[in-house]
Amino acid sequence: MSPAQGLEIPGWRIDTGWLEECRSSVVRMNHVVRDPGTGLIQPRYLKERSCPACSNAKWEFAFVSEDGFEFSRCRECGFVGAQKIFTPEAFRVMSNAEPEAACSAGSPLAKKQLDPEAIKADTKRFRAYLRDIESVVKPDRLLDIGCATGNSLLTAKKRGWQVIGIEQQKDRVERAEERGLRVLCGTLHDLWGHPELQPGSFNAVTLWETFEHVPDPEKTLRLIFQLLKPGGVLAVTVDSYDSMDYRLLKEKHPACCGFGGYHGHINLFNAVTLTFLFKRIGLQPKKISSTGGINLELQAAYINWAWNKIGSFKYFEEQRSSQQSTDSRPDSPIYNTLTQYPSLSPRLTAFVYLMQPWAGGISNNLGIGSLLFCIAQKPFDSSSDDAA
Ligand SMILES: [Zn+2]
Repeated sequence: MSPAQGLEIPGWRIDTGWLEECRSSVVRMNHVVRDPGTGLIQPRYLKERSCPACSNAKWEFAFVSEDGFEFSRCRECGFVGAQKIFTPEAFRVMSNAEPEAACSAGSPLAKKQLDPEAIKADTKRFRAYLRDIESVVKPDRLLDIGCATGNSLLTAKKRGWQVIGIEQQKDRVERAEERGLRVLCGTLHDLWGHPELQPGSFNAVTLWETFEHVPDPEKTLRLIFQLLKPGGVLAVTVDSYDSMDYRLLKEKHPACCGFGGYHGHINLFNAVTLTFLFKRIGLQPKKISSTGGINLELQAAYINWAWNKIGSFKYFEEQRSSQQSTDSRPDSPIYNTLTQYPSLSPRLTAFVYLMQPWAGGISNNLGIGSLLFCIAQKPFDSSSDDAA
């Protein structure tokens, strides 16, 4: 199946099929809450929120994502994100109408995270993040919120941390439990008061690419503040809105969406808005850095898509016509822009392979890496409920 078969390099391959599978489920779910005329989400399935970074409600229009979700910019602090997010009713309507899609939307990602290569890459980066955390606090109790299938928890456990995770998706909780991990199913808000989540009991709370999905980041941070011991640290990675990925792809970035079974990337922080929010809660930023490089997989796939558009080679067209036979997407303006997530041609596979290491390093040094890594510390002189 792989377009890269001719150039397959042992231990290294590009597979965007999982992302297309996720998106296809989301497209099917979103269809039931979408206005068929405009392609936008119907207003009755959306609720307004104030700016997650500064709490003001002075928004201006920024762009519409590929899945018909409106993104706005805060006029006070510059934060970019979804001003209107799905209501609980919208999630109910979507999962009732498309139960199969609702169950499977996140599965390809969960499967990908258990791929031996993904585990190896995750272990490497989580080790680096933990080294930074351990320069501030010694390994003791760690809570990972949005722990997925548990790659981060296993890495921390091997370094001497006592770990526990929280995860919203049931299938991922089951995979993590099979790996011998303790994971609670739900959100931090649902689970508040759980005996294993005592205020003032954690030295570290981590959220790896989770904070983008949180509907009320301020409220979540206030709960995390209470969970931390004085001197404990919060460590996060988030998609960076200052990244090369967002600068080039903008609203076409596949992670920039309202999503279906749960909230998608509705918060697009940059270093300024993220540290602003942390300070407002009373957390002291200790380190903020650019990481994750350029997602050349995304960039190259779009170059490939454009290349095929102008007819230089027909690979993409052939792939699309073979997939359309099994894909019944409704006819609406937005669906027509939601083309198949383009896979890589053999030539671009080779190009990406050569570019990845140095382009990633350069973009991190320039502060335009795909992720922001931030560590913030709870002051020693604050009691656990000061900021609540
Ligand atoms: Zn703001």
